[in-house]
Amino acid sequence: MTHDEARFAGPIWHDPDDDHMHDECGIVGVFGHPEASTFAYLGLHALQHRGQESAGIVSHDGNVSFAHRAMGLVNENFGDPKVLKQLPGHAAIGQVRYSTAGGSRLKNAQPIAMDYTRGALALAHNGNFVNAFSMRAKLESEGSIFQSDSDTEVVAHLIAKGEGGPEERIVAALGQMRGAYSMVFLTENRLVAARDPRGWRPLILGQYEGAWIVASETCAFDLIGAEYLREIAPGEVLVIDKDGVRSSMPFPKAEPRLCVFEFVYFARPDSRIFNQDVHAIRQAFGRELAREHPADADLVMAVPDSGLPATIGFGHESGLPFDMGLIRSHYTGRTFIEPTQDIRLFGVRRKLNPNRAVLRGKRVVMVDDSIVRGNTMRKIMTMVREAGAKEIHVRISSPPVTWPCYYGIDTPTREELIGANKTPHEIAEFLGADSLGYLSIDGMKRVLNAHQAQAGHYCYACFNGDYPEPPDTENHRRQMHLFQANEANVEKG
Ligand code: SF4
Repeated sequence: MTHDEARFAGPIWHDPDDDHMHDECGIVGVFGHPEASTFAYLGLHALQHRGQESAGIVSHDGNVSFAHRAMGLVNENFGDPKVLKQLPGHAAIGQVRYSTAGGSRLKNAQPIAMDYTRGALALAHNGNFVNAFSMRAKLESEGSIFQSDSDTEVVAHLIAKGEGGPEERIVAALGQMRGAYSMVFLTENRLVAARDPRGWRPLILGQYEGAWIVASETCAFDLIGAEYLREIAPGEVLVIDKDGVRSSMPFPKAEPRLCVFEFVYFARPDSRIFNQDVHAIRQAFGRELAREHPADADLVMAVPDSGLPATIGFGHESGLPFDMGLIRSHYTGRTFIEPTQDIRLFGVRRKLNPNRAVLRGKRVVMVDDSIVRGNTMRKIMTMVREAGAKEIHVRISSPPVTWPCYYGIDTPTREELIGANKTPHEIAEFLGADSLGYLSIDGMKRVLNAHQAQAGHYCYACFNGDYPEPPDTENHRRQMHLFQANEANVEKG
């Protein structure tokens, strides 16, 4: 039986002045603690950067499962202790979501919870299946009725139609899917965690007072106070129950293709993923960028916050002093109110303000992690120039984004990616920069190899179009349609 208190908490917010690709989801699983749903809530709170559109937790007390899913931020939905009291049990899974596969609606919020012949099952997914639509069409032709647009629901149907116990069904269902998945499943007496054989998205195992915790990033453990144990390996399935953890590698082996953009932007800098400290890799990207694209300038500054670690690395390598040319407001929240007066650059100014005392008369190197469409960077450049900077040399700690991602990341269509349509020289002109330099793919690989991170095991498809698992045609078409629908929301902003 599922007690579902899903509700709608407000309109979807796409920030028109946020020019980043976005991770689709963050997931967490807890087994063996009476406060499992509270830990899931804390974990999701720490993973909020991986998805801000919806949040959900499903718990199980051994007899009954309980669910709460809603649009909006984790704290808005779970900050009230009364909500967590309605999610009792020793085990829970949770998800924060930013939609790409499936639109921005409550029916697509996760975890998905269902009852089938083998009892209750809940599942949450980070990633994107590249054959979801063809699998869905097949299931529909066989009589399945879908409740959402989410690619994850395909797995739920495959499990329901499968044979054997819950673990066998989960493995058999995932074995039919292609693409990126780090997933947690909750049955009546088990937590199952699975990562696809290429390992696109991270998934980590930890422990707290004898309870087991699984999460997308280690920052979720830090908030709970859990101990980091290890990375769940690409292709690994963990079954966690009262007897402990059992590991298996049931899928055909494939070359790992971990998402290098997790290091560029998606993961929190205080996390450890892919057996690396994110902050250290980000700083090293900045050092490599300074070697590849030095600049004659007075200071180096970041586009905060995401550009900060690479900026520190750039400063160390170049010897340029670091200064705070842009100040970020951390209290912007959401607003749907535009001032009646026409305030120039209002959207960007709400979040970032140029520090005139630092910029006046200076030649600055301005570092950011990536440029997707370029419109936001152009507005920032205008602000920095108007605040008195004499020269602005833009440095980007990743290569130009030239291809969309099919593995769980929200990217615009190729037509909208500035890196796919202009040369670096043209982009510098568009931005109004005195010079522009991107970190090269080879530079990234040098950094990864220097950290024993095996550069050959990473995905670089959004930079070079070399897709390890090409999407089915229908998957590609529908995903592009959804990107455009999300863009329409941005326009309405
Ligand atoms: S295409 Fe880019 S964003 Fe997507 S998984 Fe590969 S590296 Fe990550």
